[in-house]
Parts: sequence; structure tokens; C-alpha cells
Amino acid sequence: MDMDKLVSLCKRRGFIFPSSEIYGGINGFWDYGPLGVELKRNVKEAWWHDHVTSRDDMVGLDCSIIMNPKVWEASGHLGGFSDPMIDCRACKGRFRADQATAVVFALGSAEDPASKPRFFVVGGIGDRDDVLKANEKGIEKAKKANKTAAWPETSETIRLDDATIADDRYALIPCPACGQAGTITRPRSFNLMFKTYVGALEDDSSVAYLRPETAQGIFANFKNVVDTGRVKLPFGIAQTGKSFRNEINPRNFTFRSREFEQMEIEFFCRPDEAQEWYQYWRDYRFKWYTGLGLRSDRLRLRDHDSAELAFYSTATADIEYAFPFGVSELEGIAHRGDYDLSRHQQFSGKDLSYFDEERKERFIPHVIEPSAGADRAALAFLCEAFVEDEIGGEPRTVLKFHPRLAPVKAAVFPLVKRDGMPEIAQKIVADLKRKKINAFYDEKGAIGRRYRRQDEAGTPFCVTVDGQTLVDQTVTIRDRDSSKQRRVAVDSIVAAVDDLVDGVETFTTD
Ligand code: ATP
Repeated sequence: MDMDKLVSLCKRRGFIFPSSEIYGGINGFWDYGPLGVELKRNVKEAWWHDHVTSRDDMVGLDCSIIMNPKVWEASGHLGGFSDPMIDCRACKGRFRADQATAVVFALGSAEDPASKPRFFVVGGIGDRDDVLKANEKGIEKAKKANKTAAWPETSETIRLDDATIADDRYALIPCPACGQAGTITRPRSFNLMFKTYVGALEDDSSVAYLRPETAQGIFANFKNVVDTGRVKLPFGIAQTGKSFRNEINPRNFTFRSREFEQMEIEFFCRPDEAQEWYQYWRDYRFKWYTGLGLRSDRLRLRDHDSAELAFYSTATADIEYAFPFGVSELEGIAHRGDYDLSRHQQFSGKDLSYFDEERKERFIPHVIEPSAGADRAALAFLCEAFVEDEIGGEPRTVLKFHPRLAPVKAAVFPLVKRDGMPEIAQKIVADLKRKKINAFYDEKGAIGRRYRRQDEAGTPFCVTVDGQTLVDQTVTIRDRDSSKQRRVAVDSIVAAVDDLVDGVETFTTD
């Protein structure tokens, strides 16, 4: 699938626009248009329903974005939430050192081992294969130009966050963007939190931060929820909301943004039951995505190896999706032990232990954290849904969203604008809306074009009022994916659409 086509469809049909576009936009920020806002709301509502309102071991929270800065001291974000960053003095580009690679070829030394070796160096963003591929032409040219020198098959791969690279070697590395050598700085730590000031004074005492994750608000409220919520272990606290990270390289459309929404759960349990709950959430979260239409062969559960694990975590897994730009993280599920509550207990001086009535024991609960991004999930659902196929020999673009996620559930058309057909169609739209089913009325253009427009918007069902409606009070209902149609009595159309969207019924023809 071509990402550019999806980005252009999103713009053209009002799913996602660059933020403040009339002023040239702002890198890493996006706005959701009329269809996009419905899609993202449906993602969040499906998540909230499936994890909070349909369960009896979960409660919700909605915390403020700006919190006491001590929260970020305790969580470790003030000290450690940073990426190594390199700058190019020439083109002013800024890159994450841990995502940049250089490949160093030694020239000449093989022919004359006594001579000082010369080097040919290529660089770029990505791993060794990405860099070799991006520099194919330059490498070929250098091979030809150095035909007298043996071209060693071996070459050295350098990750730019490696602090042990010698200065003379580092000076040879080209900037991943402009290609000039000797212009990039050494990696420097860059804190990803957005800083602001609270109150009239802009001094050190008024510094605050926009939250980089929603999770810490949950830990900070753990005691409040236990004291007031009549909750008993094991239980979870869920929160959705905006988070902010001053990402060095926002990219891949909304995948890496500077302002985004998270859907996070902290699931508190007894220490000896935590491993079981970790497995539970790892599987449950994977199935949530497949249940809403992501194909399991495009999804992967990747366990972190010991080098990748945070020091307090005994196990972490990422759910990854094969986006068109590569397999990338959708969500992380981490077994965080008692790290967070212990840290907040230490920094706040408040007792955050829990008394287990059944076992007559007091302890700090362990926590399993499934942490997902609403924008990344919406992007994965968009990528999965995007299909170019043919209907009756005609090419079409269609977004095959799961009906629960589709922005509009049903579009209703009068075949022609006369004989009372518009009135019947408008009444069906009003009836659907009264049942909280998002419906759309369209009377413009040929019926085939109206179907195509709804296919592109991802609307799963189209209802058409035609001549036969006036005779026998039935309408057609058309299925987006198969483009098949059947007739349904006007009286039962709302119930029929409701059942199809809910998945109680699947589409069949007469
Ligand atoms: P990455 O390695 O991609 O930066 P992360 O491991 O830092 O992500 P977490 O801190 O675990 O991410 O955040 C949990 C979830 O929040 C991610 O799985 C992702 O869905 C979402 N998320 C994190 N950063 C961003 C971002 N910059 N833009 C959009 N979503 C994000």
C-alpha cells in the first residue's frame, strides 16, 4: 500500500489535515477533520467500552494535563525521558542518534598494508541495510573510482549514539540529511517534555510540564481511587487523553506526532498473580486489534529481550503492526512491578500501600500497563482498511473499516429528488440518528457516484429509497465490501442497520 495515497485520501475526504495549514502547518501536529474525528472517537469509545464500561474490574479517570512537577521527578521523566540527539551545523537538521547509522569502507589499505588507510563513509537514518540501499549509487561510483584499491567486502557499521567513536572517525560521518561530512555534533541528551510556566512569573519556581503520558495521573490518584471507589484487587484504572512529546523527528504521518492521544490502563494486582495478569493483558490487547479488523498476519507480539527491558520490568511486549513504512509499535504491555507506586510513595511521603482484606496483608500492588496510542491505532485501522479494487469492472478506492469504527454507519439516498423519495430518506436518517447511529443523507449526483463517495468514506451500508419503495414500502440496503444489495422493509431498516453495525447479523442477500 502506498502511504502517499492514504495521506492524500485523508486530506481530500476530511480525515486528517496538517495543523494550522493556512499558515504553513507546524511539524508533528495534526488536525482531525469531520470524518477523522468520528473515526478516532469510535476507536476511543470501542476501547473505553471494551475495557471500562463492559467490565467490572476497571474504573476510569480523567486527570489534568499539567500536574505538580514532582510527579515527573518521581516517575523519572525529568531525569531520564530523553533521546540522544545530533545536530547538523550546515543544514540545521536534527536527528535521533539512535536511529542514525554510518557505514565505513576502508580504501587502499588492503593493497598496501603499510599505508595509512583512507575511508569512504556513507550515512543515513535507519539500519545498515537502509543506509546501503539509500547510498547505492554513491557506493557504486566510489567502487569504480577506487578500482586500483581492493574493495574490502568487510565494512564497519557505526550507530551514531555510540560514544566510543574516535574524533577523527566521527569527523568523516556525513549528515544523514544534507550529506556533508564533519558537520554533525556529538549526541546530546534532549528532554522530550514540553515546558511551560504556571502563573504570572516565568522563573524556575513556576516551571511545569505538559504530560508526556497519561499513566502518571493514574498512579498519582491511586490512593484517591482506593479510598473512594470501592475497588478490590485485582482492578484497573483506565484513562484516555492527550499527551505531548517534543519528538526530535516527527514522521510517518500521525505515527510519531508531538501531540497525540493515549489509551492507558494500570492494572493493579497481587505480586504473586502479576505474571498471570501480564499474560492475560498481552493476549487480550492483541485480540482487541484483530477483533476490530487488523489482520493477525500484519500484527506481531514482540517480547523485549533483557537488554531492552527497563530495570524495574520483568517482562514487556510490544504489539507491532506492519505499516507501509515498516513494522512499528502500536502499543506496549509492561509488567512494571511495584516501581511506580513505590517511587510516588517515596517522593510524596504518602502511604500508597494496599490492605488485602482476604489475605490480611499490606503491600504495594504490582502493576501491568497496557499503553496504547489512539492516533497510532486509528492510523493502523486506516492502513488496513485502504483497498483499491474493482466493482463491475470499475476501479474504486474503499476504506473497509470494521462497522464499529466506521465514521458514518449508513448513508441514505433517494434515487431521484421527487415523488416523496427525499422525505422518506430524510425520515430514515432522522430515525437512525435518534438511535445514535451516525447516518448521512445525500441526494447529489448519480447513484453510482454516491455509492463510490461512501465507499471512500468507509461507510459500511447504503440505503436507497427508489420507485419500488412507493409501491411496497421496502428500500435497498447495500453492503460496502461486496456491493451486494437486498430489500428491507422501511419499518425494519433501523433495526437491520443496528444489528449489522453491532455484528449481531452479517450481511446476506435474499
Ligand atoms: P516509540 O518507541 O515509538 O517512541 P514509546 O515506546 O516511547 O514509543 P510509550 O512511551 O510506550 O511509547 O507510549 C505508549 C504508546 O503511546 C505507544 O505505543 C504509542 O502508541 C503512543 N505514542 C507514544 N509516542 C507517540 C508519538 N510521538 N506519537 C503518537 N503516538 C505515540
